[in-house]
Amino acid sequence: MPQRDLIKYVNPEQGTASVHRFSNGNTLPLVTRPFSMTSWAPQTEESRRFYHPDARQFEGMRATRQPSPWIGDYGHFTIMPQSGRLFTSDGRRASIFRRDQTEIRPNYFRTYLGRYQTTLEMTPTERCAIFRFSFPQDQTSRVIIDSFEGESHIQIHPNQQTLTGYTRSNSGGVPEGFACYFYARFDRPIAGCGTFQSKETHEGEQQRTGERVGGYVELDGATVNMRIGTSFISIEQAKQNLESELGNRPFDVIRLETERLWQEMLNRVHIEDATETQNKTFYTSLYRSVLFPRFWHEYDQDNKQIHFSPYDGQIHPGPLVTDNGFWDTHRTVYSLLSILYPEHLTTIMQGWTNASKEGGWTPKWSSPGYRACMIGTHLDAVFADAYVKGICDFDIESAYQAMYKNATEVGDEAGNYGRRGIEEFDELGYVPADKIDHAASRTQDFAYNDYCVAQIAKALGKQDDYERFIKRASYYRNTFDPNVDFMRGRNTDDSWQDPFNEFAWGGAFIEGSAWQCGWAVPHDPAGLIERFGGKEKTVQKLNQMMSLPPIFDVGTYPTEIHEMTEMAAVDFGQYAHSNQPVHHVLYLYACAGKPSKTQYWVRRVLNELYSSDPDGFAGDEDNGEMSAWYIFNALGFYPFCPGHPSYILGSPLFKSATLFLANDKTFTINAPENSADNVYAQNIQLNNQTLNRADITQENITTGGILSFTMTNKPHDPNWSDEELPYSLSHEK
Ligand code: CA
Repeated sequence: MPQRDLIKYVNPEQGTASVHRFSNGNTLPLVTRPFSMTSWAPQTEESRRFYHPDARQFEGMRATRQPSPWIGDYGHFTIMPQSGRLFTSDGRRASIFRRDQTEIRPNYFRTYLGRYQTTLEMTPTERCAIFRFSFPQDQTSRVIIDSFEGESHIQIHPNQQTLTGYTRSNSGGVPEGFACYFYARFDRPIAGCGTFQSKETHEGEQQRTGERVGGYVELDGATVNMRIGTSFISIEQAKQNLESELGNRPFDVIRLETERLWQEMLNRVHIEDATETQNKTFYTSLYRSVLFPRFWHEYDQDNKQIHFSPYDGQIHPGPLVTDNGFWDTHRTVYSLLSILYPEHLTTIMQGWTNASKEGGWTPKWSSPGYRACMIGTHLDAVFADAYVKGICDFDIESAYQAMYKNATEVGDEAGNYGRRGIEEFDELGYVPADKIDHAASRTQDFAYNDYCVAQIAKALGKQDDYERFIKRASYYRNTFDPNVDFMRGRNTDDSWQDPFNEFAWGGAFIEGSAWQCGWAVPHDPAGLIERFGGKEKTVQKLNQMMSLPPIFDVGTYPTEIHEMTEMAAVDFGQYAHSNQPVHHVLYLYACAGKPSKTQYWVRRVLNELYSSDPDGFAGDEDNGEMSAWYIFNALGFYPFCPGHPSYILGSPLFKSATLFLANDKTFTINAPENSADNVYAQNIQLNNQTLNRADITQENITTGGILSFTMTNKPHDPNWSDEELPYSLSHEK
């Protein structure tokens, strides 16, 4: 594969200009390797959104795993260099850092702290990092390690020039005994040290354990390298991680190694004829697509994978991954990994299988263990999607058992796992709105989850299971009310929830109204089109969605939530790209015989709702989901129904793009007439054969080939028959 310098296009600050009430991504500027156990980010303020690009003070470099500010961080701590007088608390030790003296790259961070006349540089590996501090010659050279709420421990070993410790800080989802351990080694003698706790400083103290304990060391020398290893297993394992990932190799060698790793990841796709701005958006989005889930396993002395389980608190062999909200990520991230990074996806699927075994249930939101957030059991879709796309090297029988359990057993009331309302869904054919919140959204999600369970049942030859679950995959129809032409909450006695307001958020829906949440049946577009009264009426409905004003009623939410604000902040009608429920909806146009409308709108979303800037997203980015959406749509195809090995075609953004696949094959998308006006496909060919259907398959891509679009400025809608629809329940047998 020809190597290009692509890391230069990545801007880690994409999406970071977010505040509590308005999300431009709610991302962090992560200095990290792909899927790293520990990432690093500058902290400008101790809060959930701990970095903001407008901030002018720096409190330290934070070891972080935070997948979203709504979920919070765990095992986090900060590193801060300081000269002169001692100030320990994050607010009081903060220093000016200027943007023109700061560099934030995926593989490297550097800033100059004016207050301390000190330069901080760092470069990461998967579980470790090297820091390089350049202090002023004539003052104390001090490094502070600070923790957060919760028990922490610090021990300084002046003779060994090391500092060790742990923090139990977390936001939930951890078992008894959870801690993030660290082991730091300095290349200069330790001349002084101390610990601190709340406002008290204990000069000379070498060891302290308690609520929010920090420590500092003063070093003999103006240039100091600090190597730090992290672990969820022990201090010894943190040291082991440091020895194997960093050893004594110099800062610049590690920096270059991390850069090469990123270049290799980014070079899996080449785009041609892109503007500087498009290159930045594309490769920054690709960087964001491979940050989560996090590899949570470590390597023991025999180089075998082991992990501390956030489910049962035990040490287990094998891989584990975490930090993912499947309600969001199942839509795009895993399909992208299946094409571009199947070798990593294999480890990830083994990791999720282990998580399900150790916890007894599939996680719905994991960080690092079970977290109660959102609805449905969408790891079902992730398992099914990987398996049908040929990523099979994981324990599918165990995965299937967990999926079967999701579909048949009651989980916990709090929503950490399982599908709340599953018994009623099975009995009534829908989740009753008078008993359970978000009932219409749950009904649709459960039906789709069951479709995914059915795909694996079929693959494993479990015919009875297949028939049971594929039947339930059509139950979403029971929550569609033809009288209002929308999905609608339905009560236990069969009556419809009254009154009905198509603009009201919440109630029978989640994070949206019937307009945003009523299309959540990616597995049966033909069935949905039939509910709406046919293709023409479906197109009218979609047109209405795109042309209505972005109005809303807060409904059952206590106030205007940020997703409402974000929808109303742009002019895309009721199509709220700021959140996931609508992410497949533009492709329903193609399913209803109007691919030109898909092409028109997809192109507008790509051009108007994405950039690599700090305000670069329309709403929460959500662990790569929003970014992977961009990558797929810029390439010209989209995983409409994860769990089915096909992609519906859209409007590629570039004149040419080539995917360099892990099996050494290439898949090229050509669109030579492409321009800002030529957004419509006149003709589409796969390997020189005209494609008379809406989709291509995973196999079309992974066997290599050429997909050619003849682009024009005139809408063109070929006359496909219903048989050419990629999937619908009527195709199932
Ligand atoms: Ca979201």
